[in-house]
Amino acid sequence: MTPQKSTIHELTKLGHTLESKVPGVRFTPSMSWQKCTTMGAGTWKFPFLEVFTVQQTAEAVRFLRSIRPSWKISLIGGGSNLIGCDKPLPLTVFLKASPGKDFSRIDRISTKQDQASSALFECGAACSLGKIVQHVLGQGYGGASGLCGIPGSLGGAVRMNAAAQGMSVGDFVETLQILNTETGEIRRVGKDYLTWGYHDSSLPGNEMILSAGLRFSAVNIEDESQKIQLELNRRSKAPRGRSAGSIFRNPSPRNPAGKILEEVGAKGLQCGSFSVSQEHANWIINRGDTLQPDREEDFIHLLEQLTHLVLEKKGIRLVPEVQFVHSK
Ligand SMILES: Cc1cc2nc3c(=O)[nH]c(=O)nc-3n(C[C@H](O)[C@H](O)[C@H](O)COP(=O)(O)OP(=O)(O)OC[C@H]3O[C@@H](n4cnc5c(N)ncnc54)[C@H](O)[C@@H]3O)c2cc1C
Repeated sequence: MTPQKSTIHELTKLGHTLESKVPGVRFTPSMSWQKCTTMGAGTWKFPFLEVFTVQQTAEAVRFLRSIRPSWKISLIGGGSNLIGCDKPLPLTVFLKASPGKDFSRIDRISTKQDQASSALFECGAACSLGKIVQHVLGQGYGGASGLCGIPGSLGGAVRMNAAAQGMSVGDFVETLQILNTETGEIRRVGKDYLTWGYHDSSLPGNEMILSAGLRFSAVNIEDESQKIQLELNRRSKAPRGRSAGSIFRNPSPRNPAGKILEEVGAKGLQCGSFSVSQEHANWIINRGDTLQPDREEDFIHLLEQLTHLVLEKKGIRLVPEVQFVHSK
């Protein structure tokens, strides 16, 4: 759903003002979920603000607050865990720390605790986990090979405490640089500021990760390279097509959602553009059917169908792992 002409006009004016007050930021009045999320679900076109440096972010947030105090600022990273929406979210702008000078940095930091056995790296919010893992390996550090194939950005990975192969992002975090999207205030906090859960953290919705200090152990480069390659090979067998990775949380490590869904016959079920993958029952694929709009409504319908099926046949209530922008 494209905003009305009058709204587009107002947003375009706002964008010009923002871009002139805070040089370097990029404002798009009408952005699509197809461009900003890996699943590409949702038909509403939304106002989208990209920032490339820490200073721009603080200035843009303060300026936006001064002229639109009631607006909600929602955060988006690589969009690999997000489901967009069909219905407009009034007075909401989506803010993204995009790759650029500050948000793509990976710098080794000297600290008093620095020992030969480990090193701290300050990494910008837009870095992918793969890029970080490869970069620190080049300096002889690692231990995070299991995370190297998780898509998206470090900012989103911290928020979600992204995890794979028995390790999670929170295991490596030592400090976080955070911006409050109500005030534009920036502060640095320690790892204990957040509670780190299963594919989740306690980061409040109005706090944006700008960068994180991640500690990696010294490794044997050859051994670590092999582990990374093994993980990338494992990932290359994942279902093809647009998706958001696993749709439901695993009820327990011994009872993965994929196995439960397969047992109830979920594979191949579909609604609109979305189908349960034939290869992995906990993955929904956007088939990119050009005749069907990629409606969030269809995605939710399929999700509900799966939830009911599992509840009815197994007595287990599956909980979605993906995040819905309409409920944030
Ligand atoms: C093919 C595929 C495989 C996947 N495999 C895994 C896996 O193995 N393990 C796993 O844990 N996940 C997996 N995922 C899910 C997803 O990649 C992770 O959750 C990822 O860390 C999300 O990062 P993102 O930048 O894409 O975040 P987004 O999807 O953009 O956002 C996720 C959440 O983070 C918030 N957010 C985004 N940026 C910031 C920021 N700078 N500051 C604060 N909050 C922010 C958003 O508001 C939202 O709440 C997979 C997804 C796909 C598509």
